[in-house]
Amino acid sequence: MLGRFISFLGTTRAIFFGILLGALIGFLVGPSAEALKPVGTIFISLLKLVVIPLVFVSIVLGVYQTGTLARLGTIGVRTSVYYLSTTFLAVALGMVLVTIARPGAGVQLESPGFQPEVEAIDSLLGFLTRLVPDNIFTAFAEMNILGIILFAIAVGVSLLFTGDRGKPLVLVLTSLNDVFLTLTRGIIRVAPIGVIGLLAPLIGTFGFSILAPFWKFVLVVLGGLLLHAVVVLPFIFKLFSNRPLFGYVGSVRRALLTAFATASSSATLPVTLESARGGGIKDETSGFVLPLGATVNMDGTALYEGVVAIFIAQSLGLDLTVGQQFTIFLTATLASIGAPGIPSAGLVTILLVLQAVGLPAVGIGILFAIDRPLDMCRTTVNVWGDLVGCAVVEGKIKN
Ligand code: ASP
Repeated sequence: MLGRFISFLGTTRAIFFGILLGALIGFLVGPSAEALKPVGTIFISLLKLVVIPLVFVSIVLGVYQTGTLARLGTIGVRTSVYYLSTTFLAVALGMVLVTIARPGAGVQLESPGFQPEVEAIDSLLGFLTRLVPDNIFTAFAEMNILGIILFAIAVGVSLLFTGDRGKPLVLVLTSLNDVFLTLTRGIIRVAPIGVIGLLAPLIGTFGFSILAPFWKFVLVVLGGLLLHAVVVLPFIFKLFSNRPLFGYVGSVRRALLTAFATASSSATLPVTLESARGGGIKDETSGFVLPLGATVNMDGTALYEGVVAIFIAQSLGLDLTVGQQFTIFLTATLASIGAPGIPSAGLVTILLVLQAVGLPAVGIGILFAIDRPLDMCRTTVNVWGDLVGCAVVEGKIKN
């Protein structure tokens, strides 16, 4: 009966309905909504289950399907230029807004006794060495996505050189890709129930009121994200692509809703890939641009990192020099690239930014407590940025 109800509503509307229903249940039931948590956990596990094989298979095929090294170079350069420039724009936008609105002035940000986990980002150097895994099975088991991406690119390039003897592997990977996408479609069908399990415990435990003391900070973050998503990115989209913008948003809205509900670009990736297909993006483009983007291109996260660093400085009454602001600009970009696409990752890598300008990590505990709703919004912008990237990399299509 539930299946029929979901078919009747249409999956996207059903996911939206699930989000609302989850929030409502949390609001009405309060902390006992925790009981629904396993439903959300199983849903996330299902998505994670397919994401690693999908990343690997789609990147190998994405690289192989470009056909030649020269064309791979063109797509690679276009993708990198797009990713870096939009991330820069996002950080700059956030930094300008937070400097004008000064939400940190007069705010007390003490968080005694809280020790955030820094292990994941101990150093930039550590981050770089992890890029090259020494054992691909360990990389798969540890979900070292950047390492897997690098290995997949290497396999794809090798396939380009292997000629006819590589063809059987291409056939196997192509059919694996189709199987995983079919599996994803199955998971999307249960997404409306999964998101209830994510939203109800969240709202039930924390409620909306937790954001209240930080209303100005929250407004700056949400305002920045909104401007980036509905002005900056659409402008770039229109500049480089002749697809109808609203039609494209319509085709990919399922991915945006899933990003919002899961707060994880990586977990959303299977849905993002499927949506891009529906939006008319060629597999060879999305297979390369999206898995890479889910890990390295996070406009929403970058914007957030810049805002938080300056917010903390404001709360301490510190005036930042131009040099320090520039350091925040650069490290916020790097920290967003280094953040894995999982919930609250951006708040962990922000320690890199704070460290770089010598700011103490005050208030990170409080920010962790209020993070989820903001994370949901920045993840949506992250995924939207990746999807706009697909259209930009494909460029104008001939009608
Ligand atoms: N949750 C975000 C993502 O997965 C990362 C972050 O900003 O925490 O895209």
